[in-house]
Amino acid sequence: MGFVLPPPAAPSIAVVDSEDRCPVRRIFCVGRNYADHAKEMGGDPDRELPFFFSKPADAVVEDGAQIPYPPRTSELHYETELVVVIGRGGRNVAVDGALDHVFGYAIGNDLTRRDLQREAKAKGRPWDLSKGFDHSAVVGPVHPASRVGHLARGYIRLDVGGERRQEADLADMIWSVPEIVSILSSYVALAPGDLIYTGTPAGVGPLRPGDDCVATVEGLGALEFSIVR
Ligand code: MN
Repeated sequence: MGFVLPPPAAPSIAVVDSEDRCPVRRIFCVGRNYADHAKEMGGDPDRELPFFFSKPADAVVEDGAQIPYPPRTSELHYETELVVVIGRGGRNVAVDGALDHVFGYAIGNDLTRRDLQREAKAKGRPWDLSKGFDHSAVVGPVHPASRVGHLARGYIRLDVGGERRQEADLADMIWSVPEIVSILSSYVALAPGDLIYTGTPAGVGPLRPGDDCVATVEGLGALEFSIVR
């Protein structure tokens, strides 16, 4: 048996200090998970439950990527985030056992067409094309939790062209990693290779062709990428 069309490549990402790669099944993202960012986007961080959106798995691009400025936008924004990599699937996962489902962590950037997202919000339309476009899921190599432990605090930063644009602490997340895994698993069955972008701190802003970005999370090294024409 064959395929009637060329089958797409299976998306995957690097694992630190390993020749092996980590498969990417689905990409989930949490909206507004830092109070300061919720406020800058016009939300109320005290009352809103976490909400989720998705990106296609083949939107992943890795460390060192040269990312073409996407079409149909004049407001490409960075969002630096901690990415959770699911290692063991499950549904209705309890908060207490949720970290047992986490294989590891990576640094990510949830690239966003902010102008299209603003229009979608205003018109009650889906976010898909403002969030899930080609090359929109920047992600560094996976650090297994067996080596780095589970991350609940530590700096998260973004420098663009050598200037600090975002700086916060993972402890500032409104919903913790175990809570996010638990809540998300009440909506969908999680499976190995699922990525969860856990939300961005305040300071989101525009990227232009020629910008060199360096995102860092304490314990995870750095993720570098550039925007090109
Ligand atoms: Mn985000």
